[in-house]
Amino acid sequence: MNLTLRRLRFLMRWVVFYNARLVWLCLRLPRRHSNAALSSVADERRRRAQLALARVSGDCASVCADCGNCCLESVDRFTPFDRVVRTESDSPAPSWDRRIYSVPWMIYNSVRHGVQRLSPGSKKRPAPACPHLTPRGCGLSIEERPMICVSWFCPRTVFAMSERTLAARERPLLIIETLHRHALEAACGSSDHSS
Ligand code: SF4
Ligand code: SF4
Repeated sequence: MNLTLRRLRFLMRWVVFYNARLVWLCLRLPRRHSNAALSSVADERRRRAQLALARVSGDCASVCADCGNCCLESVDRFTPFDRVVRTESDSPAPSWDRRIYSVPWMIYNSVRHGVQRLSPGSKKRPAPACPHLTPRGCGLSIEERPMICVSWFCPRTVFAMSERTLAARERPLLIIETLHRHALEAACGSSDHSS
């Protein structure tokens, strides 16, 4: 296992801090934010960032293809953040399910996975999977996928990536992180206006 400073930094920044922050942003989402939307320019930025991440995904894509666990949860990965960013675009998010950032749901899911791993039938894949999963993998093109699908890395993928790939991922990830923050601000703004 090659734990370099850059890899450690990436793990802390983009696996720990980034996801903890998303949970925090999600907790701050107002209950009512139906009118919130960023401009279509923001969505264009999202699409370019997702395509940039895809261009450097080679060394961890095969690891994920072998594993596939992330696509096997019975939740739709489109969150309220995707909806706010994409509402003004030509491809609004088809749905959203905030359970993916719900702390009780994450605790329940971690316990469920722990029990599955300890039980004899642990290799059995749970059903149903993400509604976008097809027999040939994700049915959505990379730029149409939820932001969480392109910005989630487990430690295994971080160790599969070269240092060059880790470095190339930072900028598009920063764009996606900023879009989450702007989506929250828009949601809070629209909630203020509607109250
Ligand atoms: S990110 Fe990790 S857990 Fe998810 S599919 Fe890839 S290898 Fe599996
Ligand atoms: S949208 Fe695609 S990449 Fe994301 S969890 Fe579903 S099948 Fe997997």
